[in-house]
Amino acid sequence: MIILVDMDDTIENLTEAWINYANKRFHTAVNAADITTWDPSEAFPSVSHEEMYALLLEDELYETVEPFEGAVHYLQKLISDGHEVFIVTNSPYQVMKAKMEKVLFRHFPFIDWKHVIITGNKTLIKGDVLIDDGVHNLQGGDYAKLLFTAPHNRSFDAEGNGMIRVNCWEEVYKAVMEI
Ligand SMILES: [Mg+2]
Repeated sequence: MIILVDMDDTIENLTEAWINYANKRFHTAVNAADITTWDPSEAFPSVSHEEMYALLLEDELYETVEPFEGAVHYLQKLISDGHEVFIVTNSPYQVMKAKMEKVLFRHFPFIDWKHVIITGNKTLIKGDVLIDDGVHNLQGGDYAKLLFTAPHNRSFDAEGNGMIRVNCWEEVYKAVMEI
C-alpha cells in the first residue's frame, strides 16, 4: 500500500514543542495538554495570534521537536513489511530546510526526500491511507482515514465521519494491518 503520513502532531510533538518554546519566550506556563482547539494562541491571552505563529518560522524551534513514542519503530516496520511510506506535510516554506534536517531526517533517517510531499491540499494526494491529526486533511480525501488523536480533535466523532481513531503508533500499525 501507499501509506501517507502527516508530520506535525502525528509522528512528532510539534505542538508540545511550540507551547514549551512559547512559554520560554513569553514567560507563561501553558500546558500543551490543555490546548483543545486547532489554534494554540487561544491558550495564551497575553500573546497575539501573530506573535504566537511567528515562532513557527524560527529555525531553533525545530531543534526541540521530538518523535512520538513508537513512531520511528512502526514507520520502519511498515516499510520493511513492503509498504511505501510518504510524509505529507503542509509546512511554511521558510523553515522547510530546518524542519527536514532537524526533525525528519534527524529522527527518521530511513525516510528520504523522495518520500516527502509538501502540499497545502492533502485531499488531492493519491494513496491508500492517510494518518493525520487534522480532521480537515482527512475529510474528502480518497484514502482510508486514520485520525491520530490530539487534544484539539478529542471531541470529534471520527467513526461517525468515516474515520478510524488511533491513539498511538501501535494502534496505527494494527489499523493499517486491517485495511
Ligand atoms: Mg498534523
